[in-house]
Amino acid sequence: MSEKADCNDSKCPFHGGLKVRGRILEGRVSSLKQQKSAVIEVDYIVDMKKFQRFEKRRRKIHAHVPDCIKLKVGSLVEISSCRRLSKTISFVVTKVLKV
Ligand SMILES: [Zn+2]
Repeated sequence: MSEKADCNDSKCPFHGGLKVRGRILEGRVSSLKQQKSAVIEVDYIVDMKKFQRFEKRRRKIHAHVPDCIKLKVGSLVEISSCRRLSKTISFVVTKVLKV
């Protein structure tokens, strides 16, 4: 990512004190209306054993966006789970895969 000087975010996994752990997911940015956080849409597949089929589901996850990561609506991003940052946020954007 960018230089240390550019990022003053204490909740940044690269330049701040935030530790990421647990799940890593890929998703698409669906909203950037909140300050320093984004709504990420994540598609996942559930195995329906009873019907021997897979079901596609979509989940919306709120994630923190560190200062050093620039996003647009529609960007493909990688998010990692971290400690709970607020009532709805326990993920942080760690990588932009496609702008
Ligand atoms: Zn940073």
